Amino acid sequence: MQYKALVTSFVALAALNACAGSSLNPGLQAPRTNSQANLNSLAARRNQPVESLVERTRMEKHLAALSGKTQVGPEGLIPERGSVQGRALTRAYLSKALEGIGYKAEPHAYRTNGTNMTARLMADVPTDEYIVVGAHMDSVKNAGADDNASGTVAVLEIATVLKQLPNRKVNVLFAWFDEEEIGLIGSRYLAKELRKQGMKISSMHNIDMLGWDGDKDRTIELAQPDGILWDYYNMVNKTHGLNIPFDRTNTGQSDHESFHNEGFHSICISEEYTSGDMTPHYHRKGDTFETINLDYLTSSTRLVAAVVGDLSLKVPAPANIQRTPNDRFPSRKRELHGSYDEHLH
Ligand SMILES: [Zn+2]
Repeated sequence: MQYKALVTSFVALAALNACAGSSLNPGLQAPRTNSQANLNSLAARRNQPVESLVERTRMEKHLAALSGKTQVGPEGLIPERGSVQGRALTRAYLSKALEGIGYKAEPHAYRTNGTNMTARLMADVPTDEYIVVGAHMDSVKNAGADDNASGTVAVLEIATVLKQLPNRKVNVLFAWFDEEEIGLIGSRYLAKELRKQGMKISSMHNIDMLGWDGDKDRTIELAQPDGILWDYYNMVNKTHGLNIPFDRTNTGQSDHESFHNEGFHSICISEEYTSGDMTPHYHRKGDTFETINLDYLTSSTRLVAAVVGDLSLKVPAPANIQRTPNDRFPSRKRELHGSYDEHLH
């Protein structure tokens, strides 16, 4: 109920922004940085590609906190994110981090003990169009550094840097999903709610496991890219000079599927899960901070930041897109658990 009101306000806000000058409705604006210092830093950064603002050390700090490596404050450690308490601590951490960079943290409580975290970045030009960037924040009962503190931190970093990109023409909704591990629960509730509310979502980008690169080839997998997304990722990879090798797969069973099923174009970005260069600690106690390849996490996050940045600026998709069906590509089942208490192998 609480979120229904909030989501209604997303639509109402967009409608108001669309028909009235944004300066007429200052009280209705989503949180924005507009201090002089921030304006100056915006000006200074105007000519920098947004992905160059992605910082490895900032991501490392968040990753250490979320995977129980370092204390998050008086609460102590987050040793796992598979219990009610662990997930509550995770939301509290995200909430504080978001507020620290000028966002309003907007929890989406969809059922008892099920709460996603969200935050919105409104475009500089009023619009009702949104891009969703998300990752699941829960783990099985382990540190879950790769699965999925890596994705959680990547989304937080993208939220951090996109705020500094001027002239955005599309809103961005950042989402950290609860209860993915027990069946994509949080993302299903959110995607259904947004569909019901008529939110116009042009693409959804899900990041799930982005911290392992055993063969050091920097390759990432792009799973089930809908519509223009495969071509768009390839285009941005070239135009921004990132040159990251991609594998295309048809692997589902993560939160992109929830949005795809509601008719939104989606994609999942991950380490090489389908082709096997993936963490050997998947769903095991050994999925710890020390096993994460931070250079890989950083370079991959830069790519997604660049793509979402260009989409938010409405940089056009390449011409002559060949839409190859996703089922022509390999897939590999992901493990979904019936409960967080399921035996860890
Ligand atoms: Zn995962």
